[in-house]
Amino acid sequence: MNSTGLYVHIPFCVKKCSYCSFYSIECDEMLVTRFRSMLCAEMERKAAGVNIGTVYAGGGTPTILPPEFWSGFLSTLDEIADTSDVLEITIETNPGAVLPEALAEFRKAGFNRLSIGIQSFDSRELETLSRIHSPDQAIITFNHARDAGFQNIGIDLIYGIPGQTPDNWQSNLKKAIELSPEHISCYELSIENGTPIADLVNNGELSKPTEEHCREMYFLADEYLKAAGYLHYEVSNYARVDENISRHNSSYWNRTPYIGLGPSAHSFDGRRTRSWNVCEIDEYLSLIEHDRSPVEETEELDSQEIALEMLMLGLRWQAGVDIEEIEMKTGLRMNEQYLDRMIGSGRIQVSDSRILPTTEGMLFADGDAANLIEVSEV
Ligand code: SF4
Repeated sequence: MNSTGLYVHIPFCVKKCSYCSFYSIECDEMLVTRFRSMLCAEMERKAAGVNIGTVYAGGGTPTILPPEFWSGFLSTLDEIADTSDVLEITIETNPGAVLPEALAEFRKAGFNRLSIGIQSFDSRELETLSRIHSPDQAIITFNHARDAGFQNIGIDLIYGIPGQTPDNWQSNLKKAIELSPEHISCYELSIENGTPIADLVNNGELSKPTEEHCREMYFLADEYLKAAGYLHYEVSNYARVDENISRHNSSYWNRTPYIGLGPSAHSFDGRRTRSWNVCEIDEYLSLIEHDRSPVEETEELDSQEIALEMLMLGLRWQAGVDIEEIEMKTGLRMNEQYLDRMIGSGRIQVSDSRILPTTEGMLFADGDAANLIEVSEV
């Protein structure tokens, strides 16, 4: 039986960034205290007896909760679930939001992988994103994490920041490589309606780099990071060696089951059923305090949605996707003419019944997935 991933969403940040569309709020001591005990109650409700494979504390900024909380949380998990298969326990942090001495405590609490939201090494770009840290703080946090004993560190970078040129991006990549992290994620900035940065872009105070420049930056990352020895294993993700591929995120791409804890967290049973928690922290806390489920909604995916999801995920990562498996699981046939067009345009390669995206092809995953589904029974 597949083991299950455990995702824990911590909705607190020191300060909200201008581009952030995740559910996170600025830290409040009272709320944090209530949240800590309700999170453990939710874990006991959902994870008891489950065979857990990976743990990922994300957010938000999970290191806002102290190491002793996490130590207790992980011990409780050991008591109530089967954690004998757990190999990867990740915690996210942000430069400027964690003390050096606390990093060693997080390591001692049981985390063996750290993901640092560096985003950029350029002070002007950090200001545009309204991040709280400076480029120096990013490097200092990384070095402190190494000193604290983290041997598996991932860093996140963003490209497509207003004002950023391919040259600026190149220098960000160079600085990332100098740190030699085990994992690098490069995400294109998505300007989401309702965020402060969207207002600035919409009223002309900021302008996003052109689509052509963003594409150039995507290929620059591919070229630079591969030349530095990294494996481009998913559209936005690079690992130094196979063992550094994020196991937790791979479970999303493989459609293995996962349990989400915390406001807005999603869960999936590995087959057809998805559910997600209420977003607002007050509602989340009140539901659990009254011994009620924080799940807001549950949906059952139909065959077409499953096929679309398998294709979208599979076309984004190097392992690709098995067409026969999709047809067998969903009863839907792939559009062979469109498949031939994808091969002809160099977006995929085919190996037996598996389709494997090229670097170019990963960029077209969503559109290609939709076009590949033919609504007819096998
Ligand atoms: S640190 Fe991350 S989660 Fe927190 S506000 Fe900034 S982008 Fe959002």
